[in-house]
Amino acid sequence: MRFINLTRRTEIGANSYYLETAGHRLVLDSGMHPKFEGEEALPNMNAIGGRKLDAIIISHSHQDHIGTLPVLMRRQPQARVFMTEPTAEIGNVLLHNSVNVMTRQREELGPAAAGLYPLFTHREIDRVSERWQSCALRQSYNLFGERVPADSNETTFEFFDAGHVLGSTGVLLRSEGRTLFYTADVNFDDQTIAQAAVFPEENVDILITECTRGDTPVPPAWSRMAEEKRLMQAIENAFAGGGCLLIPVFALGKTQEILAILYKLRREKTLDFPIYIGGLSSKISEIYDRRAQMGRRQLSRLQLLNELRPFVLNSATIHDAGTRPGRIYALSSGMMTPKTLSNIFAQRIVDQSRHSIFFVGYADPESPAGILRNARSNEAMKIDPDRAPQTVRSHIEQFQFSAHASRESLVAFAQRLAPKKVLLVHGDPLAVEWMRARLTIDLPNSEIIVPKPGLEIEL
Ligand SMILES: [Zn+2]
Ligand SMILES: [Zn+2]
Repeated sequence: MRFINLTRRTEIGANSYYLETAGHRLVLDSGMHPKFEGEEALPNMNAIGGRKLDAIIISHSHQDHIGTLPVLMRRQPQARVFMTEPTAEIGNVLLHNSVNVMTRQREELGPAAAGLYPLFTHREIDRVSERWQSCALRQSYNLFGERVPADSNETTFEFFDAGHVLGSTGVLLRSEGRTLFYTADVNFDDQTIAQAAVFPEENVDILITECTRGDTPVPPAWSRMAEEKRLMQAIENAFAGGGCLLIPVFALGKTQEILAILYKLRREKTLDFPIYIGGLSSKISEIYDRRAQMGRRQLSRLQLLNELRPFVLNSATIHDAGTRPGRIYALSSGMMTPKTLSNIFAQRIVDQSRHSIFFVGYADPESPAGILRNARSNEAMKIDPDRAPQTVRSHIEQFQFSAHASRESLVAFAQRLAPKKVLLVHGDPLAVEWMRARLTIDLPNSEIIVPKPGLEIEL
């Protein structure tokens, strides 16, 4: 088997991985980098040269895994594309939204970006998405998309529920008498809506594992239930101070988890407060509601939009939306990327001490959310690099509701599978390094590999 890491750096960026086995060529995921523009936002597709892909397998519909799929499909028109049905449904909504974002960016970036942006169009998404094949969980398929027995001699793949967001999967590949498992983004613990991953328990030969939380230990007394209680108390305190509360969230996953937590808080405390979310979050919540009883999840009777009746903001209405006390604004993006709803809203409240901003999940340390959550009170920072610095006066607090596995559970999983080789991906350098050091000790018989971007290796 041959493997190329198509990300441009060791990081959580535009995830994409090339594999060649038994004469087949395939790519796992085709993400978009949240921080860069143009070609730099794409995976390094040049590293696969003129090779023609047979298949593209998408693990889930977060931007960093599906965001450049239309570009890859344009360059590889013969490749078959596989994902779960919810991933296809959400991916479609997300990519269309991405065209709108890129069209706005084109105006801001000026003539330099005009030829490049948007990287794809609405019509192109409609055309290529017709070629996506939805696959069920726990079924083996060959690379033509036919269902075949797991013990067939062909190269096959099988999706496993990753417990990360709706539709998310890990991928088991069987080929040449060997097995490879790609965790993609995984959570081994229950969230408020998503149920814990159900991953293979038998030995695999090669494990490609995410490392998102490799640089953060779980706080000693942490439990999700205790964390929900702490959040409830913090919301009461925030409102008592006469301010509103911003929670930056990803439109997919974190929005729905937070809405479900707020639903529980309301139910338990008869506390009632208006909630605002973004248009994209609302569309994705609709898909969660429509599919509530169709797969594994908790609170399967909960219809988020019906129960919580959130008000919906968009890029036009965000500028004059109120910052009234006693309201929760759960807005994307989670990293407060410039020009997104959460970034614009943060600029309006960050310099006022009565307001609060709560962080509830992963943020790239260099993103505005990553910088702001570590900012000290009265420090000056630019929420948007194109704007003047502001003094941080709002109340800032962090909570641990990650949709990603703890590093301890990732290590335990690797130990159960006892792979001959472990490839560490999807982590910032410190996170990957912690995992490497730890697995080198805990799996003395395995080769632990941090795959260099763009370099072809034999597995
Ligand atoms: Zn993800
Ligand atoms: Zn990811």
